[in-house]
Amino acid sequence: MSDGLYAGIDLGGTKILVLVADERGNVLGSARMPTLATQGPDSVIARIVDAVREAAREAQVDASSLVAAGVSAPGPIDTIEGVITDPPNLPGWHNVPLARILRERLGVAAVLENDANCGAVGEHRYGAGRGYRHMLFVTISTGIGGGIIIDNELYAGTSGAAGEVGHIGVSLDGPACGAGHVGCLEAFASGTAIAARAREMIAAGGLPRTARLAEHDPPLSARTVQMASEQGEAEAGAIITSAGRYFGMGLASLINVFNPQAVVLGGGLLNMGDALLGPAVETARTRSFAQSFVDVRIVEGELGERVAALGAIAVAKGRVATGAA
Ligand SMILES: [Zn+2]
Repeated sequence: MSDGLYAGIDLGGTKILVLVADERGNVLGSARMPTLATQGPDSVIARIVDAVREAAREAQVDASSLVAAGVSAPGPIDTIEGVITDPPNLPGWHNVPLARILRERLGVAAVLENDANCGAVGEHRYGAGRGYRHMLFVTISTGIGGGIIIDNELYAGTSGAAGEVGHIGVSLDGPACGAGHVGCLEAFASGTAIAARAREMIAAGGLPRTARLAEHDPPLSARTVQMASEQGEAEAGAIITSAGRYFGMGLASLINVFNPQAVVLGGGLLNMGDALLGPAVETARTRSFAQSFVDVRIVEGELGERVAALGAIAVAKGRVATGAA
């Protein structure tokens, strides 16, 4: 029997990833299940419990001997009460007291935090953000999210809703974001935004190569636009460049407001590489105060798909230490 082990649970819209690790983030067991969110909370929670037990078995401990379980879940979340309130990508979940249910089923303390905040804490404690007192985490995939670390602590805001960097305003008009606001960064720079812009241009008779690729391998996604660009379609490349510039505007706003030591980037769109990050970093540079840009390192995260589960472990450890779990 080893002691001092935690479970980190990444509850995503499509998959559940559970890691069992010590407090330094050394992973001793893992398990993965499909979320199958449409089957509803009871069925998803049963899969979470199974996955925790499986990961604990691999780590050669009983799940009930874990110190605590941390859950990374899509927002909005009541982190104080441990309730998942009404997440858009978990249909049928309304005010599910997940922390209490897991405590009852697993026999260990359980805490909740939103996925982007877990990402921030994960990279800060165990990844590319180690050693930075003031760090921002920005994730860019279908949406844009983030988390704020100030003085080595997660800054969650008054009701836990801080860090919504995808909703930095970059325009008075334009497309609406998922929350229905107009002009948010996420509606100009995310994977969803790139695909939406391509669809518009195809409807207007443009982007023939992107259109062909999408027809051959639907649905049209940011990846389709990226492939068309790599095959030489200049207008597809221009969409990615534009998204990168908007992303850089968002980064500059964050750098100017927070003067951080590091901005750690995560998310699937990073596989676009320089096509996206080149214009992003250049725009961030030209729009940041000179000293703030000298102060900041813009780096890619190191934890990949484990970031949220590892962050959830760090969150659980922190709340146990302060008596909040
Ligand atoms: Zn918004």
